[in-house]
Parts: sequence; structure tokens; C-alpha cells
Amino acid sequence: MIDLRSDTVTRPTVTMKEVMMEAEVGDDVFGEDVTINTLEKKAANYFGMEAGLFCPSGTMTNQIAIKLHSGPLTEVICDQKSHVYLYEGGGIAYNSMASVRLLDGDRGRITAEMIADNINNPDDIHAPVSKLVSLENTMNKGGGCFYDFQEIEKISKLCKEKGLKLHLDGARLFNALVASKDNAEKYGEHFNTISICLSKGLGCPVGSVLLGSVEDIKKARRIRKVLGGGMRQAGFLAAAGIYALDNHIERLSEDHERAKKLAYALQDKSYVEKVLPVDTNIVIFTLSDKMLAADFVNKLKESGILAVTFGKHDVRFVTHLDFNDQQLEKCIEIISKL
Ligand SMILES: *Cc1c(COP(=O)(O)O)cnc(C)c1O
Repeated sequence: MIDLRSDTVTRPTVTMKEVMMEAEVGDDVFGEDVTINTLEKKAANYFGMEAGLFCPSGTMTNQIAIKLHSGPLTEVICDQKSHVYLYEGGGIAYNSMASVRLLDGDRGRITAEMIADNINNPDDIHAPVSKLVSLENTMNKGGGCFYDFQEIEKISKLCKEKGLKLHLDGARLFNALVASKDNAEKYGEHFNTISICLSKGLGCPVGSVLLGSVEDIKKARRIRKVLGGGMRQAGFLAAAGIYALDNHIERLSEDHERAKKLAYALQDKSYVEKVLPVDTNIVIFTLSDKMLAADFVNKLKESGILAVTFGKHDVRFVTHLDFNDQQLEKCIEIISKL
């Protein structure tokens, strides 16, 4: 089976497992796991931020950040395709009791101008108080597209002027960095908090890191505890993260190349109506003749390819560390025979 359902399906490599088994660990709730402490510092430094917090999932890092910056009677501004809105179980309402203002961006990318038009007047008691803007980069539901850094600068300037906080769901931020060649440290200057996932393109078995100021991360640590995310000798997992930051970032360009080749193979097939432009490791395509994505995914499965539906007539492929050139060739062969 060729598994293109997500970049979360990767297994740790042999070397990654060796590094994990040798990790020096301690009780992280006491702050005594040196491997976790090293990972948090390393990830923070990478983005020019002060501190980091290792968490079990990207949902948790996002939800902690949202809770940190918003709350009852306030509003979070984000795109309608955002992971924080669509795929975190309604967590914004459940965890933070905040309202959400959904914008309709370009494949999920919103602009400073759109945000400016959607900030509530703080003196109007009818409206929730706008508190937080949450961006996503790369944008999953938008087919892995990434932001133009100049737009991020404009958004951050607007947020500072209006007293709003700015969070980045960077589950696939490394894909955006490799594709755009933007400077990671500059990201830290513009966001209050950034969530990065180690368990996606970087190939770790578990883990996300929330990055921010020392003060915010101190509060975030308290929120992680109440959510049940205070782990003990989790340095075994953090060791995989350190290894991935050192060894698995640059290679993401290979995933991007393979995704482009998949899109190229799909684009002229009679069963494909259109393929979204491929900017990183995600390929989203729409089926022709109102074919149901669920039926097509079943057909793919019978032919040896696992994929997910991404809307009624849309299918998603994600390339990753465990998808190599041999599998790509096989995949293209299957696609052409369907
Ligand atoms: C995967 C993902 C997350 C976090 O997911 P977890 O499965 O909870 O780690 C957050 N945002 C985006 C855009 C994602 O793709």
C-alpha cells in the first residue's frame, strides 16, 4: 500500500529510533527532562523566539495559544478553512469560550485589509472584543499554499496597532520555509506565538512545540497542565524532534518535487476536473462528472493507494518522508491506468 493520506503516517527512521533510545530523560513536570529542555530551546532559537513548550499534538499547541490570547466575550479572527476552526473539535468554543470571525481568503490566506475590515469597535457593546488573529502556514485546506512574507509583515503591523495578538498555526511551517526560502528567525519577530508540528513532514512519531515569549510560555505551561498535557519522561519523544530539526528540514524539498510530479500525472486524466496548484507537499484535486470522492478513494484503495476525501468531490494526496521515488513511479503508473 502506498499511503498518501497524510504526512503524519511516517514511522521513525532507524537512526531516529537509535537517538530516541539513547535520550537522557527526567520528569518534565518538574522541568527536569534535559532533552525536552534542549528541544524547546532549539526550536525557539530557530524562530528567533524566547521559549518553547513541548506538547503531545498540534491541536494542543494551537488550543493553548488560543486560550492564552482570547477568552469569553472575545473574538478570534481566522480564515473559514483554518484547522483551528474546522478540525479541532470546536475547541475554540469549548476551551476558550470565544467567538470566531471567519474570513474567506485566497485558498485560506487572509490579508491585512480583510482583517482590518473585521475588527470590531471595542466601544460597541453588541460585539465581542476582537483579540486574536490566527493564521495558518502552509494552509492545509488550501492545498499547501504559503503566505507571502510581506503580507505577514502587514498583518503583524496591523495587529500591533489595534492591540490584537497574532498566532501562527505552523503545523507545516517548515514546508513553507523550504519552499519560500524565507528566513525562519523573521517569523519570530511577527507572531506572539507559533505552533510547529514535529509529527508531520519532519517525521517524528509524536509532538508539537509552542513558541513564544518567556512570559507567554510560562502561562502556556499552566494551561498545558490543566488540559492533561504535562508529560513525564517524554524526552524519548523530544529526542526525535531534535534529530528531525537537524536532519529532516532540507529534505522536504524532495516531498515538494514528488507532489508536483503527482499533480502533473493527474492533470490530464479524464476523471480529474482540476488540480490545485502545488506549492509544497499537498495535492488536492477535484473529480470530474460529479464523481464522489468517497467512491474514488475506495477505488484508489483497491489499486493500492491510500488517500483521503477533502470535500464531496475533492481528494487529497500528501507526500512525506516514507514516500520515495519508487513508490512515486508506481503511483503514477496506477493513476494512468485508472
Ligand atoms: C495536523 C495539523 C494540526 C495539528 O494536528 P494534530 O494531529 O493535533 O497534531 C494543526 N494545524 C494544521 C494545519 C494541521 O495540518
